[in-house]
Amino acid sequence: MSKTRDHNNSLARRTAPGHVALVGAGPGDPELLTLRALRALERADVIVHDRLVGPGVLALAGPGAEIIEAGKQGFGPSWKQDDINALLVARALAGAQVVRLKSGDPGVFARLDEEIEALEAAGVRWSIVPGITSASAAAAGMGQSLTRRGRNGELRLITGHDMKGYAEQDWRALARPGAVAAIYMGKRAARFLQGRLMMHGADPHTPVTVVENASRPDEHRAPATLATLTDKLAAVEMTGPAILLLGLAPRDAAALPAPVATPKELTS
Ligand code: SAH
Repeated sequence: MSKTRDHNNSLARRTAPGHVALVGAGPGDPELLTLRALRALERADVIVHDRLVGPGVLALAGPGAEIIEAGKQGFGPSWKQDDINALLVARALAGAQVVRLKSGDPGVFARLDEEIEALEAAGVRWSIVPGITSASAAAAGMGQSLTRRGRNGELRLITGHDMKGYAEQDWRALARPGAVAAIYMGKRAARFLQGRLMMHGADPHTPVTVVENASRPDEHRAPATLATLTDKLAAVEMTGPAILLLGLAPRDAAALPAPVATPKELTS
């Protein structure tokens, strides 16, 4: 901890009450942080971050910041939401400027409201700093737009699973030609999604692109169709965070016959 930083922090504590900024870290590439997020990171006394926040983003924290990983994972071991809430409240009440850093946008599948409710209940001041959600980064990497005149006037952000298991959706709407959906936490639910969509009449040739580690150096795109999705996922073995874009193919792959197009050939 640097001296100047200590001094600044204690000054801040005397003059300002604690505060929690709920900040979007974007999809991973630090270049995709907002300026407001960067400033919040530089000024934070404490940063409480999700497992998916990239190391490049955390490297932008001020030298004196205490960095705490509060990992939450859909299926694996994780912090309890109550423990995270309690930590945020305790630090803010002690006068700290807290950054609660969440991957992507903090308002998209990030349990933002539970944290806000806990902060409100404790009388802690808070604010939200939006971020670039992974759907935007994944589509940008594919050279695609998420909405397109004449194709889709609506975009759905859906989750592959919820508290009860695989999540039910409006399958009829999703199965319509031209429908576009960004499916978060969808890797494990792929077979379920495929089954539900086919059952509701979706064209098996509908493109589905799996984008792993969007915006990161190890970004990987696996273009598939609804029919080939599960085989494709089994073949590529993805370990990083991945989003499924239903109804979108990478721009180049869309123009080529599917059997000859692989991501490597297209990019070389
Ligand atoms: N708030 C985040 C979403 C959190 S839910 C956002 O706005 O992006 C976690 C899911 O987000 C992951 O299971 C994955 O589907 C998706 N995700 C997060 N970061 C990603 C990335 N860099 N590339 C692809 N998908 C990502």
